[in-house]
Amino acid sequence: MKQFRNRLTLIMLTLIGLSMLGAGLAMVKVFKQSHIQLLEDNMIREIRLLQTMMDFPDTDSPDAVEYYTNRSLQLEELSDARVTFITKDGRVIGDSESNPVTMDNHAYREEVLEAGKTGKGSTIRRSSTLGQDMLYVALPVKVGDSFDGFVRLSLSLSQVDNGVRQGWTVMGIGLAILFLAASLLSIRVAKGLTSPLEKITRVARRIARLEYDARVNINRKDEIGQLAKAINGMADSLQTQVRTIRDNEDLLQSVLNNMTGGIVMVNGSGRIMLVNRAAERMLGIDAEVITGKSYRELKQHYELTKLMKEGLDNRISFHEERNLYYPVESIIRLDGVPMVQEDGAYRGMLFLLQDVSDIRRLERMRSEFVANVSHELKTPLAAVKGFAETLLGGGVSDEKTARSFLQIIYDESERLNRLIGDILELSSIESKRVQMDYSPIHLQAFFETISEMMRTVAEKKRISLELDVPEELFMEGDEDKLRQIFMNLLSNAINYTQEGGRVKLTAREKLHNGQSEDIVQFIVKDSGIGIPKKDLPRIFERFYRVDKARSRGSGGTGLGLSIVKHLVDMHHGRIHVESELGVGSSFIIELPVLQEQEEAGI
Ligand code: ADP
Repeated sequence: MKQFRNRLTLIMLTLIGLSMLGAGLAMVKVFKQSHIQLLEDNMIREIRLLQTMMDFPDTDSPDAVEYYTNRSLQLEELSDARVTFITKDGRVIGDSESNPVTMDNHAYREEVLEAGKTGKGSTIRRSSTLGQDMLYVALPVKVGDSFDGFVRLSLSLSQVDNGVRQGWTVMGIGLAILFLAASLLSIRVAKGLTSPLEKITRVARRIARLEYDARVNINRKDEIGQLAKAINGMADSLQTQVRTIRDNEDLLQSVLNNMTGGIVMVNGSGRIMLVNRAAERMLGIDAEVITGKSYRELKQHYELTKLMKEGLDNRISFHEERNLYYPVESIIRLDGVPMVQEDGAYRGMLFLLQDVSDIRRLERMRSEFVANVSHELKTPLAAVKGFAETLLGGGVSDEKTARSFLQIIYDESERLNRLIGDILELSSIESKRVQMDYSPIHLQAFFETISEMMRTVAEKKRISLELDVPEELFMEGDEDKLRQIFMNLLSNAINYTQEGGRVKLTAREKLHNGQSEDIVQFIVKDSGIGIPKKDLPRIFERFYRVDKARSRGSGGTGLGLSIVKHLVDMHHGRIHVESELGVGSSFIIELPVLQEQEEAGI
């Protein structure tokens, strides 16, 4: 823009300068001509005056030359002009500058010739005598019979030149002032024209730098104002469009990033174009680093890149499952889908990743569970069948043995019954079909009922059953499920404690630095056989028993604690166990006093 302005100013200044120079030259010429014309007219008038005022004695008289020479000298003094008297035949008889005797014949001088012809002659010529530009004016003069010739006046033009030079100086100064004024004016005009253009250009540049809120602040009605308006309009629509595009992009981005499935987009030349957050997590990669690179850079996932290569080479969709070992061990289902544009052009492959580790693990657990259940059911069933067969075979004759066999059959079927009951219970809990039914529970009354139920079993083994529950303790819970929890724990405690031992249940409001945490802590403590350290982490697993023989003997199913754990979870609580072999075990449960209101369906 500066350049444009400079050029504009330069052009304007040159034009002004040239026109002023032209005007100046023309003026000087006119000035000079009119000056010369004026001089000429004056000289003609002087000659005419001379003709009437002066005596013109006979030119042929012997003292004529002296007379006319003196006359010319006098006249020069008066008029500042060189005066020359010339006879008709061109002889000089008087001259104010040089001796007429030595002068050439003047008959053919231009001014003389012209005067002879037209009655008035003038010329400008360089005088060989004076070495200056001279103006010569000659008129034919005839006075009676005594003088018939020409009177010539000549004037040095150096005076005229001086005048012209003076004129030049004055004019030069004038021109310079004028030029200066014009320059200032033209700079102003150029600036007035270019500064809004500069503003507009600046704004256009800012818009190009993606600053879409830039606007031109020019309020004019002319073309520049219209241009500014057009630029602002363009910026407005650009801004709206960009906003719409950004909104769409944000929407798309958040959809992509909030998907649980991973997405990796690879273009036709094998470059990764897009990686969403789930894919970053599953593959242990950074989208910012990997985007734009080749899919082969996913080196840790050899199996995956092999599949991707096949898909990219063959441009066909596929569905496969592969194990990943980085960043964590997982099973990934990979769906490859070729991306084809509307015009049918191939754009690359879209890979969808689904972490199926949990599904597969659940499936495995389920089938293991079925295997376990079948196994657990088979054992008592085999006993029932075996003893029944023996009895039916008639091989047992004495009644005592027969009764003991029948007792075994009864016990085993009872166990089978319990087992099936526990399995049904567990599977209904695990499938989350169980609704919680919360109500306020007065814990002391609650545990008294339970201990009543347990007392007979405890007394059989002469085990003391102690309760330590403060009167004022209340909590919110599902009473049936809480009962199930403590019946299970207490019956385990009685089961795994030798005769004459002790079982104690304590309930306390948990305090932290004297402050209530709104948590009730329960401890079921026994003086029993204890649990080996290595088994502690596993006793809440399904069918896990520390020692099959002793558990079987006590009629356990190995499901009790896993049911307890589920029920505690459902109350948003925690359970853990502390135990020492041969000394006893403590099961510690922490449950919130109040249950948060949950949404229906859980
Ligand atoms: P079970 O029906 O066999 O008792 P549980 O799931 O209730 O099954 O218990 C799992 C295992 O934990 C039991 O087999 C037993 O070995 C051990 N166990 C549970 N409670 C106690 C306890 N109070 N003292 C010692 N061992 C226990």
